[in-house]
Amino acid sequence: MDNNKLFSHTEPVIFERGSSGRDGASTPAADVEAVDVKSVLPASMIRDEISDLPDLSEVEVVRHFTRLSQLNYGVDSGFYPLGSCTMKYNPKINEDVCRFPGFTGSHPYQPETLSQGNLQLMYELQDMMGEISGLPKVTLQPAAGAQGEMTGMMMIRAYHEANGNARKKVLIPDTAHGTNPATSALCGYSVVPVKSNERGIIDAEAIHELMDEDVAALMLTNPNTLGLFEENIVEIAKIIHDKGGLIYCDGANMNALMGVGKPGDMGVDVLHINLHKTFSTPHGGGGPGSGPVCVTEQLADYLPVPVVEKDGKKYSLNFDLPKTIGRVKAFYGNFGVLVRAYAYILTMGAEGLARVSKTAVVNANYIRERLKGHYDLAYDTPSMHEAVFSDKLQAPQGIKTLDIAKRLIDYGFHPPTIYFPLVVHGALMIEPTETEGRRTLDAFCDAMIAIAGEAKTEPDLLKNAPSNAKFRRLDEVKAARDPKLRWRPRAQGLA
Ligand SMILES: *Cc1c(COP(=O)(O)O)cnc(C)c1O
Repeated sequence: MDNNKLFSHTEPVIFERGSSGRDGASTPAADVEAVDVKSVLPASMIRDEISDLPDLSEVEVVRHFTRLSQLNYGVDSGFYPLGSCTMKYNPKINEDVCRFPGFTGSHPYQPETLSQGNLQLMYELQDMMGEISGLPKVTLQPAAGAQGEMTGMMMIRAYHEANGNARKKVLIPDTAHGTNPATSALCGYSVVPVKSNERGIIDAEAIHELMDEDVAALMLTNPNTLGLFEENIVEIAKIIHDKGGLIYCDGANMNALMGVGKPGDMGVDVLHINLHKTFSTPHGGGGPGSGPVCVTEQLADYLPVPVVEKDGKKYSLNFDLPKTIGRVKAFYGNFGVLVRAYAYILTMGAEGLARVSKTAVVNANYIRERLKGHYDLAYDTPSMHEAVFSDKLQAPQGIKTLDIAKRLIDYGFHPPTIYFPLVVHGALMIEPTETEGRRTLDAFCDAMIAIAGEAKTEPDLLKNAPSNAKFRRLDEVKAARDPKLRWRPRAQGLA
């Protein structure tokens, strides 16, 4: 339980640490006479809150922020099996590369002639995304998966409108990520849910029954959020295409597919890829992401502008696409994220990327097999990138998924995604990714199995978990309804 240290710091807010007279800076004595600020600035420009700033020495400030940084559990501190999020280790070389001065010092308003290297990188990354997805036309603009979905669905709408009828509905499986129906609704479509079958995937028959000429598209996640491959996709695509609809594929789970299968070959028309999940950008803390959208030639005219083009050896930005949906983001996307993805793909190579997918799948199946019998497997179908269990076997002892997740903290592990996907009651969604070795997977499975044992013999250990962490179980409802977002020393009577 060595990892427990990671959870057991406390750190008072910096305002509680100061004491008057301490200082973090030494400046030479002034050689001019001091003036009273009030005599030179109008009262309205003088902030009186400034007097609430704590007085601290340099080392106190450094220690405070270092300790805060250590409170943050990340993939660099331990196993982070958050299903659907692909919290894999991001090689540090990609961080180094995106900080090369040539990249960090360039400006989006720089003329094209002085940005040839950046444009080449974007052009080649577009090609790589096209190759990986099997969909040749690509935009790198969207800042996240959700914005990629929005971009893709706007293109689908524009395509149908150009054909004289925007259509009314979008079909979405009941296993989908919440962003799928949200995107469809924002694009003016009503959402028709598609029930997955007893194996957790979509039957062609279910699509056949729902498909008509009012359906603009099917939004399908493949592999889906149960970690299962939608194996009827080719047949499903034919049914959708025969009635003039398009297939949007949510590619957030490309970590299980790249180098092995191309969605474009399966009949997909539009796909987004989450660079921050699959292609080496740290995520989870709200930093920049990237959701490139890859489409068929048929949809190329609707791409957001500008698109990066190449003529001979010269790279340029094309703003002149008459049918474009317009811009979806300022400038050209989150460039630093693009650099990381580019560096990652070049260091891995095509074979390396295929090995990533295969290892991610092997790891998920390893966990599935080791935990099978200890936890209920919602669908006993071979996994792709993640395995979804439930709390069904623990429910008779009054133990819920949340108790299992909290107890994992006592064992030093970040809990998996819980209560998603919604089709599995009390879901525990575990995505180990390819970057974990057997030892970590075994340690995690041992902890999960020990917890399953405790659920039978000492259920209170789970109900009161976490007990080793500094903070016990938090009141999440109160935290959501009554958030305390700002420290006001005055209001607390401490100033
Ligand atoms: C993460 C995820 C999204 C949303 O992507 P963001 O980059 O977080 O906006 C959409 N669909 C699925 C299946 C995902 O896992």
